[in-house]
Amino acid sequence: MLTDLQIAIFGGDARQLEVIRKLTEQGANLVLVGFDQLDHGFTGASKMDIGEVDFSRLDCIVLPVNGTGPNGEIDTIFSNKSIVLTSAHLKKTPKHCHVYSGITNAYLNGIIAESGRGHTQLFERDDVAIYNSIPTVEGTLMMVIQNTDTTIHKSNTVVLGFGRVGMSVARAFAALGAKVKVGARKPEHIARISEMGFIPFHLDHLKKEVIDTDVCINTIPFQIVTSDIISKMPTHTLIIDLASKPGGTDFKYAEKRGIKALLAPGLPGIVAPKTAGQILGNVLSQLMQVEMVNRKGKA
Ligand code: NAP
Repeated sequence: MLTDLQIAIFGGDARQLEVIRKLTEQGANLVLVGFDQLDHGFTGASKMDIGEVDFSRLDCIVLPVNGTGPNGEIDTIFSNKSIVLTSAHLKKTPKHCHVYSGITNAYLNGIIAESGRGHTQLFERDDVAIYNSIPTVEGTLMMVIQNTDTTIHKSNTVVLGFGRVGMSVARAFAALGAKVKVGARKPEHIARISEMGFIPFHLDHLKKEVIDTDVCINTIPFQIVTSDIISKMPTHTLIIDLASKPGGTDFKYAEKRGIKALLAPGLPGIVAPKTAGQILGNVLSQLMQVEMVNRKGKA
């Protein structure tokens, strides 16, 4: 249980509601900032403006998945008010106060460093990334179905990258009967791709591997689907780029060649916000329990 903890939840999207639900179930005391337009309330949680928060009592701060904007602004779909988190706010918190976000940016790193508070990027954790790959794959299937007039079954599908998302994507497309080729650069990835029954190739040979591609799914956050590669693809190829912004595709060149290329960020929050929120809520509650035990051990 988290009954001793005072936690501030800042803004976000529908995923944050599941986080709130999980933490209140665990008995935590919550302050909700950026939720004034949310109709229903949660037992154990009070809505506040940022100016009303007593930062000196906070044990944890949970930010939206993206952390903050480039100038500290907090995105929220539950309020029209402007909310900006600064290092002055963080400095008012107790030294043990820990900040959680999905990802980070230069601004957030800066105020965390200035205040000396701990910070966890949830999306850097393997467990979160692997659980999150499930709704990501479902969103990818949705996009491919919506943007093609042929079945995934028997399609020539190329998956680029064999990390947490790439592996799940390859498996799901193969299960639907696609002929799945996977491009990677590490020998152990090539071996695992082969062991799992997909066709492996080294990324050095990407140019010749895309000549008959119907669907190309990129998970590599690096410019990999360059104009040189796109020029070798059939014009009906659909490119879905899952890699974090700006993706790994030359979108301008794809458009020029008449090839549909779509950057598809944040699919879990779009196709399954409830599941995506539960993934975050479960991990946060585990991390906070460990934090509480450690703190009691030191006291
Ligand atoms: P990951 O486990 O780190 O996998 C990344 C893959 O890219 C690995 O196979 C890695 O190979 C490869 N790679 C990285 N840099 C490379 C380079 N310069 N050249 C060749 N290969 C390279 O990451 P993930 O969890 O699968 O996530 C992949 C991307 O999808 C990330 O950008 C993530 O933010 C994004 N994502 C998007 C969504 C969405 O909704 N669109 C959802 C979840 C994640 P090596 O091991 O050889 O480095």
